[in-house]
Amino acid sequence: MTEFVPGPVLLLGAPGVGKGTQAKRMMAQFGIPQISTGDLLREHRKNHTKLGMLADELMTQGKLVPDELVNDMVADRLLEPDTKRGYILDGFPRTLNQAEWLDEYITHEHGEATDPAEAAQGPQPKLPVVAIHLVVDERVLLERITGRRISLTGNIYNIYTNPPKVDGVCDIDGSSLTQRADDREEVFYERMKAFDALTAPVIEYYRTHGNRFGEVDGDRALEEVSEAIRSTLFRMRHYEG
Ligand code: AMP
Repeated sequence: MTEFVPGPVLLLGAPGVGKGTQAKRMMAQFGIPQISTGDLLREHRKNHTKLGMLADELMTQGKLVPDELVNDMVADRLLEPDTKRGYILDGFPRTLNQAEWLDEYITHEHGEATDPAEAAQGPQPKLPVVAIHLVVDERVLLERITGRRISLTGNIYNIYTNPPKVDGVCDIDGSSLTQRADDREEVFYERMKAFDALTAPVIEYYRTHGNRFGEVDGDRALEEVSEAIRSTLFRMRHYEG
């Protein structure tokens, strides 16, 4: 059995479809990092960086942060050595401009060996991006978003469907669970508006450009969704196990 190299994987879907939850499971399963642009931006906001200050108001309103800022942030992150065997992009690309930028970036820049020993082995094969669209009915998404609670170390619960053992406390790290400010119902509708106008065309872009698109029903038990993602990824990478 040859080693499975996941390469770059995009998890696409509306707010609340389970991208973050599934990306974390894939990270554990495949040993590649989850790169969530939402998490990176929240980190910037917490640290009061220039980018964080610019993004703050837009994020609170459920609007998208400008493409150039997010693209630069992703470019920086993709230079980290942990992305070599692949990575899961969660929440990116969210606009056609971001999708086109990513294709261009991966084709021309990412993947250059910086280590001289590695460079001497010649060019590394670059795997193309594959996109997996998680699909969940919009009625279910509202409950998922408004019920979502997060622990200090990023463990995700839902007070309706996946509550912690003790109310408001993380089973794993013991921290108090909090709700994201943009998970309130009013902001959810704003985020869905941004999704329909700007991100739905990105899904069509991957569906219609090249043979690199898979769709997974996300309205099932966590394990079943993970299993479907895994087999979709294996199929797209022509991996037989
Ligand atoms: P998320 O955690 O993916 O739901 O993202 C939270 C918020 O961060 C979004 O509502 C946007 O304001 C911002 N954001 C995250 N990813 C992107 C992106 N790829 N492009 C623009 N804004 C983004």
